[in-house]
Amino acid sequence: MTKPLLPSLVDIWQQTLNWQPTTQQQKQFQQLYELILEGNRQLNLTRIVNPEEFWEKHLWDSLRGIAPLLSGEIDFSVSSACPAFIDIGTGAGFPGIPVASAIANCQITLLDSTGKKITFIEKTLSELALSNAKTLLGRAEEIGQQTQHRERYDVALIRAVGTGSACAEYTLPLLKKKGLAVIYRGNWTEEETTALENAVEQLGGVIESIEKFTTPLSNSIRHCLYLRKVINTPTKFPRAVGIPTQNPL
Ligand code: SAM
Repeated sequence: MTKPLLPSLVDIWQQTLNWQPTTQQQKQFQQLYELILEGNRQLNLTRIVNPEEFWEKHLWDSLRGIAPLLSGEIDFSVSSACPAFIDIGTGAGFPGIPVASAIANCQITLLDSTGKKITFIEKTLSELALSNAKTLLGRAEEIGQQTQHRERYDVALIRAVGTGSACAEYTLPLLKKKGLAVIYRGNWTEEETTALENAVEQLGGVIESIEKFTTPLSNSIRHCLYLRKVINTPTKFPRAVGIPTQNPL
């Protein structure tokens, strides 16, 4: 039997995020963990399989990024009571699946360019009965140019997909005006902020805030960058597949 994700960690949710998962959400997190361990036998989904590490680096980290949204400190619903989220390069479903579980009134699209990961996520969403999440197979550079996705989202999440400027180029074209991009990072420096400012401006955004925090079990440093879209992104962005990483803004 799979080792359970320590029930005592419920207290840490409360202390660190001022939020507690319901019994149903705890069950979903446990089930997600087990499905990922099972999926890992065929697919390279994650190297993080120890229960405490999975809890901290996947579940807690996913929700820490949206903590200012959960608390109301940052406004994220541009025009509706049911905000549209997109998680770009979701991989095994992070941060998107924990976010779908935590914010029941959001609709979230989980985008990835790898078909096998999307197939895994579809099965996972059905097993977890998460009806507010759906999958999308494709590259952010192409999806960002499609009218059914461009400027359609209130919030764009992105973790471990590329450099800061590539993440800005993937996220901002998909956001409605006033929408919010949440870029999850490990270490981040002031020099990187200065370099990113110019890229974000070209894409029609501003860096609204940057939060630094430590994770609750291993005390690792993390940063979250919150970008606000202020004007429409010029149509030349995102550029063709591969260009945002090969020739960063
Ligand atoms: N976000 C997940 C996480 O933090 O655990 C997965 C990170 S994984 C390192 C990067 C994922 O991004 C991979 O699943 C890859 O297929 C996807 N990816 C990379 N570039 C992409 C792009 N341009 N458009 C869509 N997905 C992309």
